[in-house]
Amino acid sequence: MAQPTKKMVVIIGGGAAGFFCAINLARLRPDLEVHILEKSQQVLSKVKVSGGGRCNVTHACFNPEELIENYPRGGKELLGPFHHFQPADTIQWFEDRGVELHTEDDGRMFPVTNSSQTIIDCFLREANKYHVHIHFGVQVESITSVDNAWKIDCKNQTFHAIAVMMATGSSQQAWSLLKQLGHTIIPPVPSLFTFHIRDKRIDGLMGVSIPHVQASLMNTDLITEGPLLITHWGLSGPAILKLSAWGADVLAKKQYRASIQINFCPTYDSASCIDYLRGMRNDHPKKKVVNDHFPTIPSRLWKQLCAFGNITENHNWADLSNIMIESFAEILTSSTLSINGKSTFKEEFVTCGGIALNEVNMRNMESRLHPNLYFGGEMLNIDAVTGGFNFQAAWTTGWLAARSIAGNQTS
Ligand SMILES: Cc1cc2nc3c(=O)[nH]c(=O)nc-3n(C[C@H](O)[C@H](O)[C@H](O)COP(=O)(O)OP(=O)(O)OC[C@H]3O[C@@H](n4cnc5c(N)ncnc54)[C@H](O)[C@@H]3O)c2cc1C
Repeated sequence: MAQPTKKMVVIIGGGAAGFFCAINLARLRPDLEVHILEKSQQVLSKVKVSGGGRCNVTHACFNPEELIENYPRGGKELLGPFHHFQPADTIQWFEDRGVELHTEDDGRMFPVTNSSQTIIDCFLREANKYHVHIHFGVQVESITSVDNAWKIDCKNQTFHAIAVMMATGSSQQAWSLLKQLGHTIIPPVPSLFTFHIRDKRIDGLMGVSIPHVQASLMNTDLITEGPLLITHWGLSGPAILKLSAWGADVLAKKQYRASIQINFCPTYDSASCIDYLRGMRNDHPKKKVVNDHFPTIPSRLWKQLCAFGNITENHNWADLSNIMIESFAEILTSSTLSINGKSTFKEEFVTCGGIALNEVNMRNMESRLHPNLYFGGEMLNIDAVTGGFNFQAAWTTGWLAARSIAGNQTS
């Protein structure tokens, strides 16, 4: 059994947020004993598989006001925290420890090695340097407040800590512990997923991508823009993933049966698209419509959209009636497709829901119900679209908790 000590701080969960908190705390306060309790035999397992094994550490977005736009839940509450620790600080933190990051065209940032192991090695080196105690196979079963401190019961051990930081990701069991302490847990539902769609317009086109579309979830005001990817089961790509994240609650309530509208050429609306198609009819009357695709719409998709609008291989632009043009413009700018289920995006399952943020002091991540109880990472009701934003939330919340515990606790 671990020796009870007034100087012990326990971090529950050896994931991204837990490690970041532990390392920073141990560095700031060498007089405290920092212990990570991890239920599995491996720490940082999500970091390992993240970003397809490359770990999308953060995003090159340095304005907190812009940054929060990427968080369907928790954005408003993260504004303050991002003024204290944001992607620029993440980059600096890693750089100070010999880990350089590089930025891809879309803003995602990865270690230059393109290997998540670089991040894990860095964390393990730092944990070792600052004498963080890591316990494997230790699942926390209860936490109890005793005399202004915490008693943490695990299967075969008990720890006594002056402060506890919980960073247990989307663990139902850990949320139950917090419910027992009076915290409200917003019911978790998946975020970041792709849509199952069977539709003639996209049938057989797996692998085709469109660089820029507008996607909206019907009967809501949710609209996203970005690349679209046709998969063998339906639709994916940033435009869809963003819609899944922002629409996570609505879609869960509808049991992933809903309709989306796609504008395949978002520089046009229905009226301007009709004008454009009429222009084509005037300027290129003898050209085959199926061979004359919009530059941004891949020819295979264009042909299928034509077929959906009853435009055959034989139709020249001059053959299109006004009604055909109007109906084709509708297909191009507002195709309605039915969602019938969902799939996880590259196994990057992110959960929205978690501890209600009004019960957390977002300046230091401390519980508003219990002093010296802190939270970080995905266990909070915070989640982001894909792109490195989820890890950024883990670093920021872990860092704030570390700084607060370091400042608040006297040995
Ligand atoms: C496949 C995949 C790829 C991803 N890629 C990216 C990416 O590239 N960029 C990005 O920003 N985000 C990515 N994400 C999301 C990101 O991994 C999470 O947002 C992040 O890991 C959350 O960190 P966390 O510390 O809160 O939770 P976790 O990393 O899940 O860590 C929680 C830890 O707590 C432990 N634990 C749980 N309950 C207990 C208990 N009772 N006692 C002790 N230990 C417990 C768990 O075993 C786990 O190790 C990805 C997610 C997945 C699944």
